[in-house]
Amino acid sequence: MAGARTAGPATVVGRWTHDPVQPTLVHPMVLQYTAQAELAEALTAGGDALAANRAEDAERAWGTAVRLATEQGNEEILDRLRRVVDILDAGAGQVRLHPDAGLSAILNVLISRVSRIGQDPPAREPEPEPAADRPPVTCPVCHKLSPADARFCTTCQATLGEATA
Ligand SMILES: [Zn+2]
Repeated sequence: MAGARTAGPATVVGRWTHDPVQPTLVHPMVLQYTAQAELAEALTAGGDALAANRAEDAERAWGTAVRLATEQGNEEILDRLRRVVDILDAGAGQVRLHPDAGLSAILNVLISRVSRIGQDPPAREPEPEPAADRPPVTCPVCHKLSPADARFCTTCQATLGEATA
């Protein structure tokens, strides 16, 4: 192999020399679905590798993600990937991890996944307050029970919680 490229910094990421799959063989919708699934898989694989301290694997996986996102024109994913890697050669899938890529940026890459299907990011669900854990309070005036978080008696409206004898 005498045709090694000499351009750019020498980051060792191998074997991304094959051409993209020819779209003539597969129905376009199937191809798009497959490509998106492949992209999501590559994103996840990169995060898993990084979590396991396998930086080279992470670079390879996210290099693949960059290549796929570039082929798909998925700027959203590319933008997120740029926060965690330097893109050396998008077409060849060559990236280099930012040494100081923040955990939040990495999580952002992983969580967002492929959201081109038109879904909004999931809204954060409010946690229900576990008010039922506390016992009800007894009214000092009428001696009926009221909920633990009630400030006034539900029966006679007397103020609760201040009746410390
Ligand atoms: Zn009362």
